[in-house]
Amino acid sequence: MNGKTRLTAYSGQEVWAHLREADSVAGIVAHLEEARSRGWTVSFRGGQMSFDTQALNEGMVIQLRGFDQIGEVAASTITVGALATWGAIVAKAKRAGHVPYVLVSSSETTAGGTLATNALSRFTPTCGKEGTHVVSFSLLTLAGVVLRCSRSENSELFFGVIAGFGYLGVVLEITYQLLSVGFSNIVVETEFERFSGLRSLTELLVTELEGQPASGPNRAPPEVNPLEHVTLADTHAISAVVYMNAERQGFVMRSRYVDGDTVELKPSLFHQPSSVLHRALQALIMNDQIRPIGYELMMNLFMKSQEKSAAVDELEGFTFFQNGNDAVKRFFRGLGFPMGIRQQTYVIPVVAGDAAATRDKLASFLERADALLDARGIVPALIDVLYLPGEAEPFVFSSTRGLAGYAVTFTFEELTRVTFPEEEQLLIEFSRMAFAVGGRVHLVKNVHADSSELEQSYAAGVAQMLGLKAVHDPTRLLSNGFLSRVFPSLAR
Ligand SMILES: Cc1cc2nc3c(=O)[nH]c(=O)nc-3n(C[C@H](O)[C@H](O)[C@H](O)COP(=O)(O)OP(=O)(O)OC[C@H]3O[C@@H](n4cnc5c(N)ncnc54)[C@H](O)[C@@H]3O)c2cc1C
Repeated sequence: MNGKTRLTAYSGQEVWAHLREADSVAGIVAHLEEARSRGWTVSFRGGQMSFDTQALNEGMVIQLRGFDQIGEVAASTITVGALATWGAIVAKAKRAGHVPYVLVSSSETTAGGTLATNALSRFTPTCGKEGTHVVSFSLLTLAGVVLRCSRSENSELFFGVIAGFGYLGVVLEITYQLLSVGFSNIVVETEFERFSGLRSLTELLVTELEGQPASGPNRAPPEVNPLEHVTLADTHAISAVVYMNAERQGFVMRSRYVDGDTVELKPSLFHQPSSVLHRALQALIMNDQIRPIGYELMMNLFMKSQEKSAAVDELEGFTFFQNGNDAVKRFFRGLGFPMGIRQQTYVIPVVAGDAAATRDKLASFLERADALLDARGIVPALIDVLYLPGEAEPFVFSSTRGLAGYAVTFTFEELTRVTFPEEEQLLIEFSRMAFAVGGRVHLVKNVHADSSELEQSYAAGVAQMLGLKAVHDPTRLLSNGFLSRVFPSLAR
């Protein structure tokens, strides 16, 4: 198709693009020049793990190669190339008794790709999102200049590039602050608590987080080590998953890092993405017809055994538990199955200082969504809920900028199809419900929502990006279908 290549997002959407690869600054600059001369827009692509079409383009996609060096841990920081995968970064940090504060659940994502989206993890309730832990990065701008960006140097770009989805330039190298754990045999202890019903889920989660500051880790002046005060003792993970069986059962997970030399491994199936049983259960819930069997097995066989004592998992199994989903998807896609997925996350705001009102708001959102799902006869593969502290820093399109809330994620998966018209319609309706309570649609997964409401809910970020585009990308070279759909006033 006119020299174009078909590229596929993780969810299965396809875009035909002029694909170029670059492993050097000179290579990137040359491709940008070609795109300019041909009138094409451009997107950068790293680990290719975006759910939606954030990294795809109907014009040119520059697939980054190389840039994957990983430095030594020094003074609890690590400097990595933008293409270094989180799997490789964890391996290096762990050997030095450290762990990144925020780790996404797939080892194949890259540092540049997650910085561009300001990733979150199950540790976010106590550690904030990825951007909080970025010390500095180098950015290749469209003028062909490499700039160092931090809270004190080119700070407007620092805040515009983190959570900026690659719309201002290419990140080449990043320095992260790490959590000093103090031992290298890092394992994760997790308690699973079962619940039955959406109200009891919100009771458990909101009560747990009562008293926690609504905003994330505070910033010290930029010259000072900004995260000195977030220590191992402050750090724990908490999240919940709901299986949509008749009782709406699920479990809340509470996890913390422990020294593997002092405890015995007691792996949970949930955190063993390489095990055959884990992958078989993943496959079971990927099909509408047999999904209920998967739920029953999960809740009544596996989870029952898990209640007796805390699990102790290897760091990698705990952290990268979605590698199982990824492997199953790749396997079936290899066999020719479409393996479509839609996953969308909403931030439902907390009511400051009022846990009862927060519980009510979250429970009402979940119950209304549940009722709509029931009425349409649609069963999601999973719903999960996670507390997100508000961010004081102006990371441009971060869903928690100045907004503490609960991230509610709906996942729909199907072995045999790639289109989800009914589910997408529902996701749009959920978006309206989230906007109505002052919430946002998180932009890192799939995004189905009315664009004017999206722009309104990210008004500060849209204004900030407009200003940055005027200086750094006045012709809107870095623009794509995703931007046109989400923030049309920023697209070319
Ligand atoms: C199985 C799975 C599990 C996931 N788990 C989590 C999770 O736990 N938490 C979470 O927050 N997210 C999660 N995600 C989402 C994922 O972290 C994001 O989609 C992330 O952006 C993917 O990074 P990538 O390296 O694959 O980048 P790509 O998909 O290649 O690109 C993502 C975005 O980053 C931009 N970009 C990439 N590299 C650069 C660069 N060097 N400079 C500038 N811009 C760049 C792209 O233009 C695009 O906008 C998960 C995704 C999958 C598929």
